[in-house]
Amino acid sequence: DSSSVAAKSEPEAETKPADEDDEENKAAQSLLNKLIRNNLVNTTNQVEVLQKDPNSPLYSVKSFEELRLKPQLLQGVYAMGFNRPSKIQETALPMMLAEPPQNLIAQSQSGTGKTAAFVLAMLSHVDPNNKYPQCLCVSPTYELALQTGKVIEQMGKYYPEVKLVYAIRGNKLQRGMKLQEQIVIGTPGTMLDWCSKFKFIDPKKIRVFVLDEADVMIATQGHQDQSIRIQRMLPKNCQMLLFSATFEESVWNFAQRIVPDPNIIKLKREEETLDTIKQYFVLCNSKEEKFQALCNIYGAITIAQAMIFCHTRKTAGWLAGELSREGHQVALLSGEMQVEQRAAVIERFRDGKEKVLVTTNVCARGIDVEQVSVVINFDLPVDKDGNPDNETYLHRIGRTGRFGKRGLAINMVDSRMSMNILNRIQEHFNKRIERLDTDDLDEIE
Ligand code: ADP
Repeated sequence: DSSSVAAKSEPEAETKPADEDDEENKAAQSLLNKLIRNNLVNTTNQVEVLQKDPNSPLYSVKSFEELRLKPQLLQGVYAMGFNRPSKIQETALPMMLAEPPQNLIAQSQSGTGKTAAFVLAMLSHVDPNNKYPQCLCVSPTYELALQTGKVIEQMGKYYPEVKLVYAIRGNKLQRGMKLQEQIVIGTPGTMLDWCSKFKFIDPKKIRVFVLDEADVMIATQGHQDQSIRIQRMLPKNCQMLLFSATFEESVWNFAQRIVPDPNIIKLKREEETLDTIKQYFVLCNSKEEKFQALCNIYGAITIAQAMIFCHTRKTAGWLAGELSREGHQVALLSGEMQVEQRAAVIERFRDGKEKVLVTTNVCARGIDVEQVSVVINFDLPVDKDGNPDNETYLHRIGRTGRFGKRGLAINMVDSRMSMNILNRIQEHFNKRIERLDTDDLDEIE
């Protein structure tokens, strides 16, 4: 039912560039990534390890057996379909499971196995005979906490004695009660209240403290202080673990306040390149002309699947409407959609149910849709000041060396200003972007 994507009027979003809600979208983006990912990200990069004690041997495991897990947990791991530890798990797991436990700061992009690793560490360290909280895990939002909770439940499927409770707003407990669950997962504010104000948790009995999505965490006012206040209530010998997808200075400063004497593991992102991409631009005078050019391109070449990027929600909605009127099966990804709805749209597109995905920049950031062979910048990516956003350009059309197939990128230019932007992008990457005449399309194949 491609008609349902026809442009709706969105008065409040008329002219607002889609990137404006970038900051507040960090948590949503992270959740979206979790919802659409069902396997590991491939990476050929090696992990970098910085050990607290550089003289102690560095263990790394190639199998889950080597970790001497409780049989119930090994069974849980295999039931999830994991055959061997991921790149980051190879070194992170032995560190986290060592006796005495070691502190760890780990950074790697989403989808590399961090959550599975710390869930396994938490499940390994609790004693189900003790009916009180022994592990705390803080996440930036309620939804992210729930996602982690699901992983705990899956992995602990054959270890039902271990119980889990959510410290999230809305989960109201009776005053004076003491929690019996071994693992508490929640957001920093509620977790702090449960430890201090309400005393549902005795922080002195905590053996593992996990801080997940540190980069998302510090983007929210107050979360940083709350996390540090929780950390201060924990005993000295409590294991501290911190995870982040990115690692800018602010995250690093925060990490060091949360995790004393850390081991550090970093896994670099696979570099994206434009080497296997054919880049073109099309000259037009208006968005109607750009749409016409797009139709010509569709008439001339066979496009398995394309992603089309627009600057505003309004343009994206309009374009999706026009394309579906032309008979295309169009999916529209738009900022006002709930994260779950966005995940569903991307899943359908990934499954090939729609051939065209029209989206704004914000929605599509960090999404990998591997089989997309054509990317169209209906509007060129620019930052808030109207300068070329080279990073986004690369991310939209670039491919990682080993897994990337050849691709085609077409940029729509509709003004002097956008021509200037295109030229600057071309200079930045030192890669030629060729002019394409959409009235004579023999040249692209
Ligand atoms: P991150 O926390 O870094 O985003 P996750 O732990 O959520 O990564 O793992 C990403 C995806 O890969 C999940 O679908 C997870 O079930 C799966 N996964 C994690 N570890 C393994 C493994 N060792 N083998 C196979 N799949 C794995």
